[in-house]
Amino acid sequence: MKVKDILSKMQSNNSLAVSFEFFPPKTEKASLNLFEAISDLEPLKPAYVSVTYGAGGSSQKLTRDLIVQIKKKTNLCVVAHLTCVGQSRQEIHQVLEQFDQEGIHNILALRGDPPKGQKDFEPHPDGFEYAADLVAYIKARFPHMGIGVAGFPEGHPDCPNRMDEMDHLKAKVDAGADYICTQMFFDNRDFYDFRDRCELAGINVPIVAGLMPITSRKGVRRMSELALGCRFPAKLMKALSRADNDEAVARVGVHWATKQVMGLLENGVSGIHFYTLNKSKAALEVYRSLGVGDSESLSKVEPL
Ligand code: FAD
Repeated sequence: MKVKDILSKMQSNNSLAVSFEFFPPKTEKASLNLFEAISDLEPLKPAYVSVTYGAGGSSQKLTRDLIVQIKKKTNLCVVAHLTCVGQSRQEIHQVLEQFDQEGIHNILALRGDPPKGQKDFEPHPDGFEYAADLVAYIKARFPHMGIGVAGFPEGHPDCPNRMDEMDHLKAKVDAGADYICTQMFFDNRDFYDFRDRCELAGINVPIVAGLMPITSRKGVRRMSELALGCRFPAKLMKALSRADNDEAVARVGVHWATKQVMGLLENGVSGIHFYTLNKSKAALEVYRSLGVGDSESLSKVEPL
């Protein structure tokens, strides 16, 4: 089933359409930990889980291997991220063919970031320059596949012109993307404004909100170093600076993310995507704070 159909079905059943993102682990121990996290999260009946795609051959193989394992070991719908970095059209075609043969029919089509040590993105001489080109290719060659794309509520760091940026996003949807998943944000007002701007631009596909519960001070620093362009509101920073140990930081992170989820639910969000960093604890605690057991519990809420 395509993600857009899952989202629409969950929305009409009044279910909480959540999804979880994982990255391919590099060691056997990390892999065991990840599968523990996946088995913690599977009972929540997520709409889908997704697996990131790194730059470079070995990391790309790890993505494929992880996806195949999740497919084998669980009943989860898996979305494969795919980027244009360092690959010719032919190589990308082969990856798509492999996914197709393995029953992976949902792709998050991305341009990707430049590999470590490279400042700007340089397209492969025989590859794709922008995600929109990859979307068009998938749509033409693998029309049965569901296609998601990335959206940036606070703007993409490479495009200072916010109006042009909406045109670029619309180009991805016009090329065949059937939903958008956003970069993480910590202030829901950025998401609502982005959603309104999408509507003004004539972008009418579901928009899934990307959230990352903060779990450590180190994590905040790392996110800022990655220059993803997301803002940490002063109120959040103040709460984090009051926390005097790691556990307290994580509690603040879960509390903040829970409040974000509650606000998003009240404002009719199409889906919520958790950047899990391969851990289940924070997402599970957000769920507990919402008072729901799994994605279907929302539809069964008894009035007081
Ligand atoms: P594009 O849509 O191609 O946009 C890239 C930049 O080019 C933007 O600034 C855009 O405005 C500009 N642009 C687009 N079209 C044009 C045009 N015609 N003319 C001029 N400028 C244009 N990265 C990974 O490497 N692996 C992953 O698995 C991964 N997963 C992600 C998942 C999500 C949900 C998100 C939000 C991001 C993810 N990323 C991942 C990061 C992403 O690859 C980077 O943010 C990348 O820099 C942009 O990708 P994009 O698909 O949005 O690119």
